[in-house]
Amino acid sequence: MNTSLIKNKKVAIIGGGPVGLTTARILQINGAEVTVYERDLNAQARTSGGTLDIHADSGQKAIKKADLMDAFYQYARPTGEKMADMHGNITSEEMPTEENGYQRPEIDRNDLRKIMLENLEENTVVWDSQLTDIQKIDEQYYLEFKNGNKTIADFVIVANGGRSNARKFVTDKEPQLSGTYIIQGEIENPDRDYPEFKPKYGDGNVMAMGEKKMFYTHTLRDGSVHFGVSFKADENWVLNNEIDFEDNAAVIAFLLKKFENWNEDYKKFFVASTDFTGLPLRLFSLEETWKKHSNITLVGDAAHVMPPFAGEGVNMGLMDAYQLTENLTNGQFETLQDAIDDYEQKMFGYALEAQRTTYQMEELLHSDVTTEKILNSRGGV
Ligand SMILES: Cc1cc2nc3c(=O)[nH]c(=O)nc-3n(C[C@H](O)[C@H](O)[C@H](O)COP(=O)(O)OP(=O)(O)OC[C@H]3O[C@@H](n4cnc5c(N)ncnc54)[C@H](O)[C@@H]3O)c2cc1C
Repeated sequence: MNTSLIKNKKVAIIGGGPVGLTTARILQINGAEVTVYERDLNAQARTSGGTLDIHADSGQKAIKKADLMDAFYQYARPTGEKMADMHGNITSEEMPTEENGYQRPEIDRNDLRKIMLENLEENTVVWDSQLTDIQKIDEQYYLEFKNGNKTIADFVIVANGGRSNARKFVTDKEPQLSGTYIIQGEIENPDRDYPEFKPKYGDGNVMAMGEKKMFYTHTLRDGSVHFGVSFKADENWVLNNEIDFEDNAAVIAFLLKKFENWNEDYKKFFVASTDFTGLPLRLFSLEETWKKHSNITLVGDAAHVMPPFAGEGVNMGLMDAYQLTENLTNGQFETLQDAIDDYEQKMFGYALEAQRTTYQMEELLHSDVTTEKILNSRGGV
């Protein structure tokens, strides 16, 4: 181990999502002085969005490098998937086997955050720290936060997600709407609120397509079921749809209309759901490269946010955590900048490939698709 590139350097990570926290943990066990600045008020803030599938050949490599596979196995679940059509017919069923169960297991977002937080040194994460500005003076970065606090860092890792306000220090480009919209919700206690659901659709994932729309569910560790529906929506609709997501009845009415030709199973699902959110999906394309900059880089969604249709977003972010920390600690680079440049070059390779696959899946899943075609292409969400 050679940690000379990060020795005696103050490393600031902006954002305590899965990618920022994993990067922090790997750097910390390699001797770095690292601080994560996170906007959430405290560790109890509930991250939204259900579960993530963490792939053996990408995301899990970072968890392993963080020396946290045992903790990961405590929470990650091999998960089956049923595919259905809009008429409520189950068209295929894939159950995990002993051989493939941990190739793409699901883990609740909150569990992944918990594992990372429990394994970082005390006070590594500074909560209630929403970054508002960065100034570069000589070779150091001066960071300012909404709560009035200020700090200085030698190296900044921007990990504050798809809507990052710090990305502009590395590139002038902005993410674009991908053209697809997701509405999410959950049934907290399906056995009580929709008891017919699990006996038919099981307690794994469900995916159904029809009329250029998709419906999917994930079951969380506590038995609650989170769902999403996705459909094409242009910018005009995104800006003017006027759905009030605080008003459950209004969202349910919208969904019942939008899915009026679908089977009653799905409609009952909407009626039993609460906690709705609407999400215009964004893509920060890597087709163009970034401008030159020093001692600051982007990881995770800040670097390459993409829609979730190939299940690659967090996996590519965790690959960033893996690759960046590998370069910073393997002793093969003369300077911090060389290590960052090599990381970015590699990241543009794997993450751009994932974005291209995602784009194909997004088009396929919102076309007049057949289940057979989907099975041959394997989507995420
Ligand atoms: C509906 C949906 C389903 C998905 N499913 C999958 C899936 O199955 N598999 C998969 O691989 N990916 C999936 N993804 C993508 C995945 O969620 C993201 O790729 C992943 O969360 C990115 O992690 P991150 O740490 O880079 O960013 P985030 O998870 O967005 O975390 C960023 C953190 O930064 C904090 N922050 C933001 N702004 C500031 C600021 N100014 N100052 C300080 N802190 C700040 C936020 O509070 C947050 O904690 C899905 C995405 C969506 C929307």
